[in-house]
Amino acid sequence: MPSSGSPEAAHVSSGPTGNRLTVLSGPSGVGKSTVVAELRRSHPEVWLSVSVTTRAPRPGETHGVEYYFVSDEEFDRLVAAGELLEWAEFAGNRYGTPRAPVERKLADGVPTLLEIDLQGARQVRETMPEALLVFLAPPSWEELESRLRGRGTEPEHVIERRLAAGRVELAAEKEFDLSLVNTAVNEVCVRLIALMK
Ligand code: 5GP
Repeated sequence: MPSSGSPEAAHVSSGPTGNRLTVLSGPSGVGKSTVVAELRRSHPEVWLSVSVTTRAPRPGETHGVEYYFVSDEEFDRLVAAGELLEWAEFAGNRYGTPRAPVERKLADGVPTLLEIDLQGARQVRETMPEALLVFLAPPSWEELESRLRGRGTEPEHVIERRLAAGRVELAAEKEFDLSLVNTAVNEVCVRLIALMK
């Protein structure tokens, strides 16, 4: 799958500093969090939103770094208070983007990235049509399946759920402004950074 989608310039609006909200989405297992981790390391000038989730932490995940891990009750409260820019249920857990920090960073002209699922990307498209929506695609379906299984962090029924969601997400690729194929993490980072600035 080559890069595709509408012309990059067509859907991009920039703030006063030329920075814009960018959304990175794509099927579970495609490598979004690896890309985000590499961006965090190599491009500290980019601000990565930290989502809240009701999912339990995986080994090595730290509260406040990959996610804010919250209870169902706390998530309900955040939704009711309108504190989430978008949120979605994914494979049995809920995930959402805290609104205030995103608005603050954008107002300050900081390049801002959300790593969220398809349902969240659709909500951002509605509420912030100027955002750039980037789809991270796997080199092939087989590759996606083997990455999800190879992670070894989820039981089979969870993997099956994520694969089912992955089929739906792959079918939505054309809704995005453009696609990047995750063949090499460094390459994806370079292209993302170029798009964000
Ligand atoms: P994981 O459990 O593998 O960390 O994430 C599962 C899915 O939830 C991924 O597709 C990830 O992009 C998505 N996700 C993470 N944070 C958010 C969020 O704040 N909002 C939405 N809509 N999806 C999220």
